[in-house]
Amino acid sequence: MKVRDLLPQRRSTPTKNPTVDWSKHKDDLKVDFHHHCAYCGSYDGFRHTYFEVDHFIPKDFLKKIGSTIGLCQYDNLVYSCKFCNNNKSSLWPSQIESVFNLNNEGFVDPCNIEYDTHLKRTKDGGIMWNTPLGKWKATVAFKFDERANAIKLLWELNQRRKLVMAFANEMKKRDKDSPEYAGLMNHAGKISFEYVLLHNELMDYYNNL
Ligand SMILES: [Zn+2]
Repeated sequence: MKVRDLLPQRRSTPTKNPTVDWSKHKDDLKVDFHHHCAYCGSYDGFRHTYFEVDHFIPKDFLKKIGSTIGLCQYDNLVYSCKFCNNNKSSLWPSQIESVFNLNNEGFVDPCNIEYDTHLKRTKDGGIMWNTPLGKWKATVAFKFDERANAIKLLWELNQRRKLVMAFANEMKKRDKDSPEYAGLMNHAGKISFEYVLLHNELMDYYNNL
């Protein structure tokens, strides 16, 4: 499985045109990245997962070299959970603006389909790698291995969220007094129960960090 269900795609013309505050692009990025973290694929609708605007080529590096890439330039921005953004921080192993990765260290733009060739989602919702570059990203840059428990819980929660939404959509099409409606409600209820338990588990995990 892929780490993200959908490949993010940045729009060519952002809604806003900030010159100083890149966070003004966050609303566009949220949509273009399908409400999920570009790097770990976690969903942004859970209250405990704060999302940020990451600079793919880190802003500290761009400033250091006096790059022509502006800090508000949309095609260098990434919708990222705070955990991925904090871990990635100002890492840029090649120290060359145009070289995203070198000798199996560095990054792949999460909007490039190549991103999904280096990493994979395991059956239990964890993240592993297919390539040495993927291993570097998972263990050095984003520390998916250290966050494995949270990553799996977030994935399990999101799977149930999507299922409940799918059931709700089906239920809308049916008569409330029909046996089909009752059957769907029964399934949705079981999944919602699991969701609440998983949510509590995730809260405990975060509270004990
Ligand atoms: Zn993330």
